[in-house]
Amino acid sequence: MTKKDFKNYICRPFCVFFKEGEKEEMACRGAQIAEFLVNHKQVNPEKIIKFIKDPKIWENQKAMLEKHVCLRCSFKAEDCDFQSSAPSRDVEPCGGFIFLACLIEKNIIDESVLEKAA
Ligand code: SF4
Repeated sequence: MTKKDFKNYICRPFCVFFKEGEKEEMACRGAQIAEFLVNHKQVNPEKIIKFIKDPKIWENQKAMLEKHVCLRCSFKAEDCDFQSSAPSRDVEPCGGFIFLACLIEKNIIDESVLEKAA
C-alpha cells in the first residue's frame, strides 16, 4: 500500500491539515499505524470511510492515542497544533488519529492492537 492509497481513506476524508497536491514526504504516526493495520488486513478501509467525524470520538480516545501514537510521532514536537502546549478549543487531530479513534470507538481495534502496531 502506498501513501497515495492511504490518502484516499485517511487524509481526504478525515484530515483537516491535508492539502491536495502538496508534497509531504512524511506521514504522521497515526497514518502509519492505520496503514499497517490495513496492510495486515485487520481493518477494511471501505467501512471506515463512512464514519462521521465527531469531536466526542477523539476526545474519548485521546489518552490512549496520545500514549501509543502521538508520543512516537515526528510531527508532535513542532508541527502538530492538536498536541501543542496551548491548543485552541476547536483544533482537530490529524486524520490518522481520527481514523484510529473511530476504530477504537467501534470496537474494531483495542489497546493491545495499538501496542503491537506501535
Ligand atoms: S495528532 Fe499530531 S502528534 Fe498525534 S499522530 Fe497526529 S500529527 Fe502526530
